[in-house]
Amino acid sequence: TDSIPPAEGATPALAQWFAAKAQHPDALVFFRMGDFFELFFNDAERAAPVLDIAVAHRGEHRGQPVPMAGVPVHAWEAYLARLIRAGFRVAVCDQMETPEQAKARRASTIRREVVRVVTPSTVTEDGLLDATRPAWLLALAETDGAFACAWLDVSTGGFETMALPKADLGALLARLEPVEAVAERDLAELPDLLHRLPGRIAHRVKPRDPARLLREAFGVATLEGFGIFTEAELAAAAQALSYVRETQAGALPRLDPPRPQAGAAGTLALDAATRRSLEILRDQRGGDQATLFGAVNATLTAAGARELAGRLAAPLAEAASVSARHDAVSFLLGAEATRGAIRASLKGAPDMARALARLALDRFAPRDLAALLAGLRIAASLRDAILSAALPAPALMAEAAAALAVDPSLEAELSRALNLAKMPARLEDGGVIAPGFDGELDALRRLRDGGRDAIAALQQDLAQAWGIAAVKIRHHQQFGFLAEVPAAPAEKLLRASPVPAGQPLSPIHRQTMANAVRFTCPALAELDRKVAEAGDRAAARERACIAHLKRLVLAEGDAIARAARALADIDVHAASATLAAEGGWCRPELTERAEFAILAGRHPVVEAMQKRARGAAFVPNDCDLSPGRRLCLLTGPNMAGKSTWLRQNALMVVLAQAGLFVPAQAARIGLVDRLFSRVGGGDDIAGGRSTFMVEMAETAAILNQATARSLVVLDEVGRGTATWDGLAIAWAVLEALHDRIRCRAIFATHFHELTALAGRLPDVALASMKVREWRGEVVFQHLVGPGASERSWGVHVARLAGVPRPVLARANQVLSALEARARGGGPDALAEELPLFAQRVSAPARKLSPIEAALAAMDLDALSPREAQEALYRLKALS
Ligand code: ADP
Repeated sequence: TDSIPPAEGATPALAQWFAAKAQHPDALVFFRMGDFFELFFNDAERAAPVLDIAVAHRGEHRGQPVPMAGVPVHAWEAYLARLIRAGFRVAVCDQMETPEQAKARRASTIRREVVRVVTPSTVTEDGLLDATRPAWLLALAETDGAFACAWLDVSTGGFETMALPKADLGALLARLEPVEAVAERDLAELPDLLHRLPGRIAHRVKPRDPARLLREAFGVATLEGFGIFTEAELAAAAQALSYVRETQAGALPRLDPPRPQAGAAGTLALDAATRRSLEILRDQRGGDQATLFGAVNATLTAAGARELAGRLAAPLAEAASVSARHDAVSFLLGAEATRGAIRASLKGAPDMARALARLALDRFAPRDLAALLAGLRIAASLRDAILSAALPAPALMAEAAAALAVDPSLEAELSRALNLAKMPARLEDGGVIAPGFDGELDALRRLRDGGRDAIAALQQDLAQAWGIAAVKIRHHQQFGFLAEVPAAPAEKLLRASPVPAGQPLSPIHRQTMANAVRFTCPALAELDRKVAEAGDRAAARERACIAHLKRLVLAEGDAIARAARALADIDVHAASATLAAEGGWCRPELTERAEFAILAGRHPVVEAMQKRARGAAFVPNDCDLSPGRRLCLLTGPNMAGKSTWLRQNALMVVLAQAGLFVPAQAARIGLVDRLFSRVGGGDDIAGGRSTFMVEMAETAAILNQATARSLVVLDEVGRGTATWDGLAIAWAVLEALHDRIRCRAIFATHFHELTALAGRLPDVALASMKVREWRGEVVFQHLVGPGASERSWGVHVARLAGVPRPVLARANQVLSALEARARGGGPDALAEELPLFAQRVSAPARKLSPIEAALAAMDLDALSPREAQEALYRLKALS
């Protein structure tokens, strides 16, 4: 804002711009001028490169040309989207009256006001939103040392709060992925993550009476009906609310009453590293292709996809609520006809919640009304399908059916009112309301259309009176109806009119163009006035009808929002049932015991990718972490499938506790309170910490937080450091998990020495990836079997990777030596061999003959048949 000149001496319009900018110094001002939104001064310079538009200069301010860039109003959404994605906020300063109205007030310019501030969390346009993700605004507050958050989605009305320790904020951020945040000004020590959101953090003062602000916003005398809030939760909720209100120029969207969440108690704890490792909603590169969500998303609606993503991001940790969801899926799996009817209805179902939000903020298009009507019809048919099912509906499905019932008179009224056959794109286009809905509107339209018919008839009269057969009456946006005459006869008409002046059909010249001249006449002008007037009145009447519909819809707003949520729930349940029906997914049995038994489980993402690539079929594997074997120590070479198996078992917990079915033949899972997964690249390069430091920090987090009810999957603890350090640390971690934490765990390691521990720790069971050797090559079977891996396959893998032959040969020698000596005395004896690593690995022991040297230098795998033949000739020459 520093390069914006002072406002003094501005033209009246520019003075309005300065006023808007002063109100919103941190936003770009979109300044409406007719058919364009204009950006001025520094705003133009900053936005132009993002929007790929040129900066022009127009007029002068204080002797300097004014930099300016504009975007057409009809395409503003696309431009806005680019700015919002680039992290800008945009204050929309709109024209609040027509030029005629301004003239009537004798004002020097049209009145303009900032009608909204567009930020990532306060957009409602479909083009600016991700259809399958909520757009959470996260608010943070602290009262008397207690911390809390509230999150709110303007586009659907979702609103929740949670009191939590500040240390858990990272996990909450990872779960919600908010697009923008608002925090109390004096809140210190916000985590880095918060600064990496798409939008920025707005810092604001604490509202004075948060409870009152909320009571007034929801029109209630007490908040008790919504649940029990801490002071900090109220402060956070009020903060979110007032921020949203400010961006909407005082208006509030329709919001659900805030629902206090039970903190960490009700949900499966998943820290940010675990989410990254398991690629639940996002893969490790931040994309959304190879994710759990992508693999299990068989929903048919955007709202269903959002609900599924929400469930995967926050699985439950309470048996009863998880089972209730499983009951719903089981019901839909069993009631095949019902599922078919439901899925058929859901296909193409509109996004009712978001259409409703646009209606509430008066930012809707005709298609939003049509979407609500279609949604209500679908809700009714879903309800019928559930109630007429052959099986009795379980609790969640019965509740959903009840929530789908919206006052049928609303659907009836919308059906009668909307001109579905020919819905216009914009409200201004007219024709939203069907004929027959409103008598007055019909009469005004008849008047307007009758005028048009009269005008058409007038054309014949004019042709006769003026003696010009080619006269055509046309409508012009600017001038209304005019009679157009080709240039040659027009000249005659202008020179000597056959009708004297002052009569109804006397020509009056209006405009001369290249090859035609436009006229009017008193009769035409009179009809034109009548048509325009009837047109204006018809448009006004139609606006009144639409306002009436909007009132009816908003009166049922909460019921519609409930129905929209029920529709999303049903979509998720039906999607899970569909996966199960198509084969290979089962209902997991959830227990309160510390057990974990998977029969023929699969990794849904790897399996889906292999299916798509038409590669080898995925090999199912069991996993048993029952008492007595709750800690599994897994060995096997790289590429054998260790991390796939680790992850797939962790994913079973996420899916099962999200209330979905799992990719296995059978699964029995004792409820997990916290799930930890450390598999695959945990490098925090952006954070500037070394791999080993990150690994140890994440291991520390597990050792400090895991409980006896947790499940931990760990890959290669200690890989980031020198061998003996790493082994020592891995050893100690394994012991801690076994003796102190006593959780279920899978621990994959390269350190074969660790398997020696198994004998000493009663709850450790050994497992290994089965590998076969076939004609000197490694064949990965991707099968998990009992016992430790027999030998080190690293050298074989190195060969697959193209490491040159001589190095491989030497590595095999060193390996045999190591193995021979290790057999003598276990890990301790191995330690004494440490100096071996200092020797030059590739130094040949004796002098080689020229033929031997040539042979050793040859990489047989890299030779083409032709090169091989040439090599043979060379060898022959050496002999
Ligand atoms: P590791 O962790 O042992 O290095 P990965 O788990 O990364 O091995 O697996 C290596 C590759 O093997 C994967 O990319 C996958 O394509 C394949 N794979 C893993 N497990 C299976 C399986 N059970 N069935 C089929 N292919 C598998």
